[in-house]
Amino acid sequence: MSRAQNQYFDDYIKSRVRTIPDWPVEGVQFRDITPLMQNPATFRRLVDCFVHRYYEHDIDVLACIDARGFIIGGALAYELSTSLVPIRKRGKLPFDTVSESYELEYGKAEVELHKDAIAAGQKVLLLDDLIATGGTMLAAAALIKRLGGELAEAAAIIDLPDLGGSAKLQQAGYKVFSICSFDGE
Ligand code: AMP
Repeated sequence: MSRAQNQYFDDYIKSRVRTIPDWPVEGVQFRDITPLMQNPATFRRLVDCFVHRYYEHDIDVLACIDARGFIIGGALAYELSTSLVPIRKRGKLPFDTVSESYELEYGKAEVELHKDAIAAGQKVLLLDDLIATGGTMLAAAALIKRLGGELAEAAAIIDLPDLGGSAKLQQAGYKVFSICSFDGE
């Protein structure tokens, strides 16, 4: 796809993200991706944006983050013919896990991955709906590293660069991709 076509699809996706002011708490602009899923043509284009970026990459495993990462994850893993593994919030995975905790604005959170989800040397694409402070993605990347996986890229539909997460991921040495960003909006 040409750069102009890419930009067209990126703008198309961005224009269909719904922003809910002051949700779940005052001051947060919640970026709601449900309109992207509700319209079949839009959902297809959304998945295709990722397919076009990664179909020539040698990805072994798609690791997607609880819960909105799962929505695109299944369709993308099917199209790329990769293994699909969930990175879940604490206490949700039934088998032996590795876990990483990270700081939230208030309190702590923890993500887990099954110990056998990734084999040493496998190339892993990490996927979530959105990067804000980057805490979730950094913790997920640490889990992948602990199992010996190589993180090919951290991908999201939306980046919120003002919150610094994508910059933090890049400073940590990871490649980052997002379809669109909300910058000072
Ligand atoms: P963070 O760890 O701060 O990068 O936050 C990313 C995670 O929190 C993602 O799984 C998002 O689904 C969710 N999230 C954080 N901020 C927002 C927001 N403004 N709108 C929608 N989801 C958000």
